[in-house]
Parts: sequence; structure tokens; C-alpha cells
Amino acid sequence: PRLANQIAAGEVVERPSSVVKELVENAIDAGARRVEVELESGGARLIRVRDDGGGIDEDDLPLALSRHATSKIASLEDLEGVASLGFRGEALASISSVSRLELVSNTQDDPTGGWRVVVEGRRMEPRVTPSPHPRGTSVTVRDLFFNTPARRKFLRTEKTEFGHVEEAFRRQALSRLDVGWVLRHNQKTIHQLRPGGDLVGHERRLQALLGKGFLENALHLDLETGGLRLWGWVGLPTHSRAQADQQYFFVNGRVVRDRLVAHAIRQAYRDVLFHGRHPVFVLYLEVDPTVVDVNVHPTKHEVRFRDGRMVHDFLFSSLHRALGEARA
Ligand code: ADP
Ligand code: MG
Repeated sequence: PRLANQIAAGEVVERPSSVVKELVENAIDAGARRVEVELESGGARLIRVRDDGGGIDEDDLPLALSRHATSKIASLEDLEGVASLGFRGEALASISSVSRLELVSNTQDDPTGGWRVVVEGRRMEPRVTPSPHPRGTSVTVRDLFFNTPARRKFLRTEKTEFGHVEEAFRRQALSRLDVGWVLRHNQKTIHQLRPGGDLVGHERRLQALLGKGFLENALHLDLETGGLRLWGWVGLPTHSRAQADQQYFFVNGRVVRDRLVAHAIRQAYRDVLFHGRHPVFVLYLEVDPTVVDVNVHPTKHEVRFRDGRMVHDFLFSSLHRALGEARA
């Protein structure tokens, strides 16, 4: 089974940033209010994600590392309308099969409590030992791909890998504005983001993650029709420092890259403003979880809407109206 894990690891573990994404999603699923991401050497040497979520019970620790073990869905029917970010139970098994992984967790408020389990590549030590940890979980991933040299060779420079990690972090930190976040690289604090509840706090975060230029000429919108809500920020065409890659779209807190969504935004943008401009946006779509299907791809960046036409039309008309009013 460990070999199967290593093969499957290719699906979810491509580079340090994919590890960060999976670990952070687990932290969010555990109800974390604060998530700390720490790296050394772009993540090749060390990736550590700490959260203050619900933690994992002593008995469940080894289970969390085994394939297809998920605490998040009980049956296939539950896949309909799944609200948590993870639900396949593959990430930890896959990551641990290609690294030296340590899991420390505590479900209690007593900080002297806590339990630890270690896995090294194919060698699983099922021994769970006491280890003090505040309520929540820390996952430490050392020496990624140490036992799969072919894959390790594909890692780029520290700077490049850290760039990917920072982008993954940026997406996650934008996806949950209500959560506090920290990113550290080689002992240096890169981002320290307070949980921001109101518009001022949200915009402070956008500025920290996307730079001052983003908000300088962006329109804030918040529209709701028939159970669908769209809110966030869209850059106006006078946007001076528009960067092509500043396109963030979230569906129910999930990072999504979707052709239908991209199309609706592009259409509205073109229609109201002018051609040749790259839309930049941070947008949040909130819908009833039963109208989206997230079980499309292991990395879960794709969604399928039950009624794609309706979502497309809602996005298009909302943006069209907001942008049109802004121009007038
Ligand atoms: P999935 O997220 O798809 O369930 P994972 O392999 O990512 O699968 O995680 C396996 C299980 O380990 C989860 O279902 C959850 O019960 C537990 N787990 C992992 N990370 C955490 C965490 N940070 N806090 C609490 N539980 C966790
Ligand atoms: Mg997961």
C-alpha cells in the first residue's frame, strides 16, 4: 500500500506548494482560526503547518495517515453538497509516502496534552507517543521527495519553489479573510495577517497580499439574487498596475479556476469596458452547496455547477451592472 501511495502521491504532491495547499486545507477543515506556515529552503527541507483547530484524537492519529481514511464524509451520498475542502483521505498518506512526516495534535485545551506520530517514506511507525502541543495540529514535512530522486530532480530553485508556495498561501489567505495567517521562510516573517472582519480589515489584507496598486482602482461590489451572492473587488480598466495573474475566484471559500466563471467575467469586462485589458479580481461566490459538485479533480480547483447557465448569467449580469455603474 505504501507503494501505491507513492504513485498516487504524484496526483496531489507535485512540489512544496501542493503540500502547503493540502495541509492548509486540512487546517481550515479543522476549524482553525489561525494558521501558521513555515518553510525552509523553499519547502524542500521543511514545511510546517500549525493550526489551532479541533485536533486529532490519539486513536485517530495513525488512521489520519492511511489511505482513503477521511473523517469528513461517511458515505458516497455525502459527496453531494460536500462543504469541507478535503474529502478523499489521500493527502496525508500521499505526502507521508514521499517525505519524513511528523504529526502532532491535541484535541484538548490542556497544553501539556498532545500526541505525536512519525512516518518516514514507506516506513510507518504506528507508535503514538505523548508530545505536548496546544489545542490544534502541527504537521511537519521534511525532505520532500527524499526517497523519489526522480521527482526531487524536478524541484526548481528555492526562490521559484517559494514563489509557488507564496502564491498558494495568497490564495488560501484570500479564501478565508476571517482567519489569521502567518507565512515564514528561512526564519523570516513574510506575511502576518490579522483576521479581518470588516471591509477595512479585508482591504488591509488585500493590500498586504496583492500590493497597494490593486485597490487603487478597484471597485468593491456585493450583489445578491435568488440565493446567489457575489461580492469582492474588480479592477477598473484605468487600473495602472494590473497584473495578469491577479485573478482570484472563490466558490463557498474554495479556490476555483473554472472556464465558465472566467468566461462570464471576461464577457462582462469586455462588454462594459474595453478590449485588450486584463480583468483583475478577487471575487467570492456564495451558493447553496448542493448546486456545486466539487468532486471533479483531485486537486479540486475545478467545480461543476448543476446549473452552469444560471451561474454564468448571474455572474455576467452582476458584473455588467456593477462595472457599468462605475463607469457612468
Ligand atoms: P481528507 O482531508 O481528504 O479527509 P487528508 O489525508 O488530508 O484527507 O486527512 C486525513 C484525515 O486526517 C482528515 O480527514 C482529518 O480527520 C485528519 N486531519 C488531517 N489534518 C488535520 C488537521 N490539521 N486537523 C484536524 N484533523 C486533521
Ligand atoms: Mg485533506
